[in-house]
Amino acid sequence: MERSLIIAIDFDGTCVEHCYPAIGCEVEGAVEVLRALQQRGHRLILHTVRSGATLEAAISWFQERRIPLWGVNLNIEQRRWSESPKVYAHYYIDDSALGCPIRFIDDVRRPVVDWRALRKLLEYHGIL
Ligand SMILES: [Mg+2]
Repeated sequence: MERSLIIAIDFDGTCVEHCYPAIGCEVEGAVEVLRALQQRGHRLILHTVRSGATLEAAISWFQERRIPLWGVNLNIEQRRWSESPKVYAHYYIDDSALGCPIRFIDDVRRPVVDWRALRKLLEYHGIL
């Protein structure tokens, strides 16, 4: 049986284009890769600084796309061994993470995750 990894997923600039506090357009390729990760048995944690209504909107974004979340800003299992607020995950996918493949949509906005390049990385590492 393959290992079920915990993968923390940032939202703004990762799943959707930067438009906070609104919900930006879907970043190309995000939904397909997130679904593939989930179908592979990996556990997805929404990992975002959004809170209150803006967090609910992000959770709805996943629900509407039928991408189940294993956690929201929380890894319930880590409570057994840590009281740290940091969400423990095997991997973090975040447009602000150094090394995460990114691409520019235009000359104005911050870059977003390049999911085509990221998929290749995930495949290379045997995660997908
Ligand atoms: Mg971000």
